[in-house]
Amino acid sequence: MRKKIAAGNWKMNKTFEEGQILLSEVVNMVKDEIVNPNVQVVLCVPFPYLSTFGKLIDTPKVSLGAQNCYPKASGAYTGEVSVPMLQSVGVQHIVIGHSERRQYFNESDAFLAEKVNATLEAGLTPIFCCGETLEQRNEGIHFDFVSGQLTNSLFHLSADDLKKVVIAYEPIWAIGTGVTASNDQAQEMHKVLRDHLASKYGAEVAEEISILYGGSVNGANAQELFACPDVDGGLVGGASLKSREFVNIAKSF
Ligand code: PGA
Repeated sequence: MRKKIAAGNWKMNKTFEEGQILLSEVVNMVKDEIVNPNVQVVLCVPFPYLSTFGKLIDTPKVSLGAQNCYPKASGAYTGEVSVPMLQSVGVQHIVIGHSERRQYFNESDAFLAEKVNATLEAGLTPIFCCGETLEQRNEGIHFDFVSGQLTNSLFHLSADDLKKVVIAYEPIWAIGTGVTASNDQAQEMHKVLRDHLASKYGAEVAEEISILYGGSVNGANAQELFACPDVDGGLVGGASLKSREFVNIAKSF
């Protein structure tokens, strides 16, 4: 059975103190309320908070996540943060290739492939993001485009390594807009992606990979989205900034 994952992506929000309160609330609620051992909650918090917040997480039900990394292990890369650094403060998951990084920081598929490699080499879990623009969807090229993102950044991996990757499908038109993909649109794309993985790695490997949906997931729509057969959870932005709503999302499996 594939792992069910509710990952909160705080993005560039919350001060240290606000974040500490939010994280503690989520951890406590998860400890009390989430009984399904197949559900993993991930909190992807800003870099400066990782070290302290990691120590506040006292349950394996919650894992510490970073929102980005740099692929080199160390060296003269002013301002960057490497995977071994993240690992040394307890990070287990790293978001790679979020559309905001692709869009505002020009991160290419090839560069993201390097980040995936560095993350896997350290034994951490990449949450690899993909997704199309509204224009691409309207042109009807969305399936090919998103499949291509997987090909370009993941298909160099061995089957064993691919199985360690979590994929997050996040249509750009649904991120932070309040417009969620319909259940049918989400399921349709997730199935296309799983079939695409199967075309290279075989159905057995593809069946093992968790594919999350992201884009305006909230407490009201999570249950229906997560009920889709190929949707294995969510990467949640805005709604992860509210402890009660986020934990309700994590309880929606
Ligand atoms: P959103 O963001 O839930 O605020 O739409 C999702 C994401 O960008 O990961």
